[in-house]
Amino acid sequence: MKPQPKKPTLAINGGPKALTKDAGDIFKWPIVTKADENAVLDVLRRGAMSGTDITKHFEKEYADWMGMKFALGYCNGTESLRAAMWACGLGAGDEMICPSVTYWASCTAALTLGAAVNFAEILPDTLCIDPKDIEHRIGPRTKVIMVVHYCGYPCDMDPIMKIARKHKLKVIEDVSHAHGGRYKGKMLGTMGDIGAMSLMAGKSLAIGEAGIMVTNNRDLYERCVAYGHYERTGLPSNFNAVDRSIFNPALNKFAGLPLGGYKHRMNQTCSAMGREQLKHYDRRMAEIQAAMNRFWDLLDGVPGLKAHRPPANSKSTMGGWYAARGLYRAEELGGLSCEKFCAAVRAEGFGGCSPGANMPLHTHAVFHEADLFNMGKPTMISFGQRDVRQGPGSLPVAESIREIAYSIPWFKHDRPAIIKAHAQAYRKVAEHADEVR
Ligand SMILES: *Cc1c(COP(=O)(O)O)cnc(C)c1O
Repeated sequence: MKPQPKKPTLAINGGPKALTKDAGDIFKWPIVTKADENAVLDVLRRGAMSGTDITKHFEKEYADWMGMKFALGYCNGTESLRAAMWACGLGAGDEMICPSVTYWASCTAALTLGAAVNFAEILPDTLCIDPKDIEHRIGPRTKVIMVVHYCGYPCDMDPIMKIARKHKLKVIEDVSHAHGGRYKGKMLGTMGDIGAMSLMAGKSLAIGEAGIMVTNNRDLYERCVAYGHYERTGLPSNFNAVDRSIFNPALNKFAGLPLGGYKHRMNQTCSAMGREQLKHYDRRMAEIQAAMNRFWDLLDGVPGLKAHRPPANSKSTMGGWYAARGLYRAEELGGLSCEKFCAAVRAEGFGGCSPGANMPLHTHAVFHEADLFNMGKPTMISFGQRDVRQGPGSLPVAESIREIAYSIPWFKHDRPAIIKAHAQAYRKVAEHADEVR
């Protein structure tokens, strides 16, 4: 008898695909109902797109949802972060510490304030800022620590807040990936001095092109109002009882003009949709968490693959699990590259699997060479800042992001059969890694 040639197992080698069923609407987001449509249409019919009456209701509801005193709506998350930096006193010649792996909007506005960004390392198991890589970066002009709850994972806030209080620094939480997520039971965005976040159409709380900031600090709130909400400077809000008496004389004299020269208000088609989306968010988020936890439970113990989620019973959660990632450990798979692993998963029928996340920012030319103010010098050093620029090799974990992380399906509904089929695609490739190499 002639030996039969071994049939390939993996689809990338011509074997059968793990995933053949149509995914249906399991990935569709946001969930838009008639109520969203009616809310937006009402704004259009009233011609109320540019006002603030609906936005103020949304702000009040958002602040209540987060258990915060103040919320301020923005045209996008990028601007909420710029305003937060300015409100926290970041100015020309200052420094802000920020993780290198994040979306650029977490820190790029610092340059427009004449400040430098001192990039910190991330942890390979959380993909969030490494609290041990913060303190030695603090200099005489450091004003702000920016933390990002990256891909939904809550940053380790306790040591970060301790360092910040010791050195009298402000902490801004970029919550753009983690609306509704919790750290040891506390909602993300409520532990730093300001929480600022995107609410754009791709995020887990998606209301259009919008952003919002929250704080318990009236002074920071008023500074944000003065910076880009010029028509509200010095005015009491009808919706926040606690800010009825807002009259900060130092800022009030600027009323009518935005101190930053920015126009920051939210389009009210977004705030109208936001009011509707917020009503359902906790329930929809809980379903996402059930689905994503189901996916990871199915992959428990598979070599090379590690869940990107806090330990069970830690009271820390992943919020809406935005930009969901898995952790990759090539050494458990005989050195198979993350890139090749992902290509094999795509061949199994899930096209959304790719290596990495956001590319590290500390090596980007904007933070080395860009001269925003035409001063004949890179902005990172043109206002007398220390030169904190860092080249390749300085933050090895951040620089290895394409080898340690990959995208996974972001399920919006907890449907066991389809989730199981997706988990099977990842499991199959990991268990047959030798066939890929
Ligand atoms: C999306 C995002 C932002 C920017 O928000 P926009 O609404 O797109 O301006 C900021 N930070 C992070 C981490 C983001 O993912």
